[in-house]
Amino acid sequence: MRLIELSDEKGQIRFEFWGCNMKCPYCIHIRQPSKDWSVDELVEYAGKSTTDNVYLGGAEPTLQKDLLLLIEQLHSLGKHVILKSNGMKPDVLRNTLPFVQGFVLEIKAASDDTKGIMDLTGMSEERSTKYAGLLKESLSIAKNKWLRVWVRVIPEYVNTETMSRILPELEGASELMIYQFMSNPDFDLPFKGHNEPTPSWREVKELGEMALEKVPQVRLAGERGKMLLKR
Ligand code: SF4
Repeated sequence: MRLIELSDEKGQIRFEFWGCNMKCPYCIHIRQPSKDWSVDELVEYAGKSTTDNVYLGGAEPTLQKDLLLLIEQLHSLGKHVILKSNGMKPDVLRNTLPFVQGFVLEIKAASDDTKGIMDLTGMSEERSTKYAGLLKESLSIAKNKWLRVWVRVIPEYVNTETMSRILPELEGASELMIYQFMSNPDFDLPFKGHNEPTPSWREVKELGEMALEKVPQVRLAGERGKMLLKR
């Protein structure tokens, strides 16, 4: 399995996998160096830790052919696995259902905004249209477990108008996390001329308050740190 990074701190083991089936122009992770690890090595790493919480993220973990084997083994060790995905591989998510505690899925734009999805993912029109359907299927599978949906707010694509079209997809999720674009320069490459936190914190909060109509809690992350909004 190919990883960008692995860590064990703040009560969480994190395996950040390399490679993605999207080419988002603002993504730093698909440009980072990587290294191969065997399933046995990763299970041994997790087994030595005193924490039970394991986050599988990266770029896109569902592309790793041994992902299910890894998750099954972590589960049999008693670990609580959270799997992050862009939602392009619902079949992989479905297979992991008996072994994971929950999921983190990203919504990049309103599902009917094909042009926006093309800009944000670097994918063709055909793939972007297909992705919208696959993401809906992934969300429906993931709602069987704890689910955090996260939205990276790039204001040309996510704003109060488009959020009202995203809201129906949130129904049934456990929480929403809203991330203010460029508020952590280690995570983002400048895009569309944005090279500092955008939109304003006030607008980020407004989007969070809108979402409380559909989810019991919203986490905001940005230049002002973190904030939890509850119904
Ligand atoms: S889907 Fe996520 S990991 Fe993949 S290229 Fe886009 S931002 Fe990066």
